[in-house]
Amino acid sequence: MTATPSRPLLVVGAGIAGITAALEAAEAGREVVLVERDACVGGRVLRNHHYFPKLCPPSCGMEINTRRLERNPRVRVVTGAQVTGCRANAGGYEVTITHAPAYVNDRCTACGACTPVCPARVKDPFNLDMSEVPAVRLPHPNAWPKRFVLDRQACPSGCHACRDACTYDAIDLDAGERTETLQAGAVVLATGWDPYPLERLPEVGGGRSPDVISNVQMERLAAPAGPTGGKIVRPSDQQPPKRVAFVQCAGSRDVNHLPYCSAVCCLASLKQAIYVKEQLPEAEVTIYYIDRRTPGRNEEMLGRVAAMDGVRLVKGKVAKVEPNGPGLALRVEDAQAGRIVHAEADLVVLATGMVPSLGDGARVFGLACDDDGFGVENSGIVVAGVAHRPEDVAASTRDATAAAARACVAAGRSA
Ligand SMILES: Cc1cc2nc3c(=O)[nH]c(=O)nc-3n(C[C@H](O)[C@H](O)[C@H](O)COP(=O)(O)OP(=O)(O)OC[C@H]3O[C@@H](n4cnc5c(N)ncnc54)[C@H](O)[C@@H]3O)c2cc1C
Ligand code: SF4
Ligand code: SF4
Repeated sequence: MTATPSRPLLVVGAGIAGITAALEAAEAGREVVLVERDACVGGRVLRNHHYFPKLCPPSCGMEINTRRLERNPRVRVVTGAQVTGCRANAGGYEVTITHAPAYVNDRCTACGACTPVCPARVKDPFNLDMSEVPAVRLPHPNAWPKRFVLDRQACPSGCHACRDACTYDAIDLDAGERTETLQAGAVVLATGWDPYPLERLPEVGGGRSPDVISNVQMERLAAPAGPTGGKIVRPSDQQPPKRVAFVQCAGSRDVNHLPYCSAVCCLASLKQAIYVKEQLPEAEVTIYYIDRRTPGRNEEMLGRVAAMDGVRLVKGKVAKVEPNGPGLALRVEDAQAGRIVHAEADLVVLATGMVPSLGDGARVFGLACDDDGFGVENSGIVVAGVAHRPEDVAASTRDATAAAARACVAAGRSA
């Protein structure tokens, strides 16, 4: 076996788990290549308005991490790329990385001159398609690397207004895809999660009323950089809701949808109840739950929310949500009262779960998944964060630190 001690670790996915794994391995002396499919790092956490337990903006913690990335010469960050091939060999893995076309290259200074001249509009993926943005733009205010992106498929034929406006020669409208081959010592997969689709929950109004939204949409509604500038309003009429209902375990712990508990939805709804009451103190908030899962010090948040005026926690399963005039009607199996009760709301927030987004990644790496789609690691391919199991940020970082250590050991073994 050839000794290849200098082979880097490959970390796939630059959410909080992948960034943590990359930094921990690099700070322990290992070379790392961190590959992210999006144009910038940060993953799902950056889409939150605030994050528990401290309820601060997620950009605070993320800035510390991006500074660590900037300062660490051992981490090479590759954004806008995916691993499309992986073959085990004597020293670890030969990996193919496919880079998406770089329509905006690293000469971009984020000066912003291209955006005002762009005639094309696209749905904003950062805001979960709830608003529109120019085809050429900064992906979001905390983007790192701070570089513009360009949705080429939205451009009208013959347009090159942005290229003409850019004095840094940073726009190449004819850019193409390219591939590179990398010899990696071991792999950490930290590809995270996707929200369970709202449309698969029509029985509780998902996809049937604009005023039935998901918890991830609520995060964007409350965020200052979100589609409403941070105003919590009913999507149908842009009015502040007077009655907000949170439906827990929407599709979770249900054999017809996701059989498992996503571990964070109870806390996410408690956090969002705080968003509502801080912004709309007169609003009535009801949280319908089956069990309240707030382990450890997060129990404090439950106490804080339960003590708020105008907040009710009702133990009961919401069986149906239907449009009812300008509002919504809820049918609830009230577990304490032991009967069916009927309630009304102006805005319903479904606490939908997290679905592992390993997908094609599992096939590329030849990784086995458990019955729920979470990765089951093997000796050279380590899994971290929500790709591994549903967990919050604190648990994802702990998990990622341990994953980095296991990957360093695996790389040493195959060197
Ligand atoms: C509504 C809601 C609110 C939440 N609020 C909180 C909170 O307040 N506090 C808290 O602690 N936790 C919260 N969480 C949980 C938190 O979002 C997760 O713990 C966290 O996102 C896990 O990070 P991750 O890195 O594992 O995954 P992600 O954040 O999903 O990051 C994965 C990264 O991998 C990239 N990727 C995916 N596939 C590929 C691929 N094939 N190639 C390259 N890159 C890829 C993605 O683009 C992404 O950047 C909340 C969850 C929900 C649903
Ligand atoms: S692409 Fe050019 S014009 Fe647009 S922000 Fe970057 S440097 Fe400025
Ligand atoms: S080429 Fe595309 S991105 Fe550039 S200005 Fe025209 S429409 Fe906008």
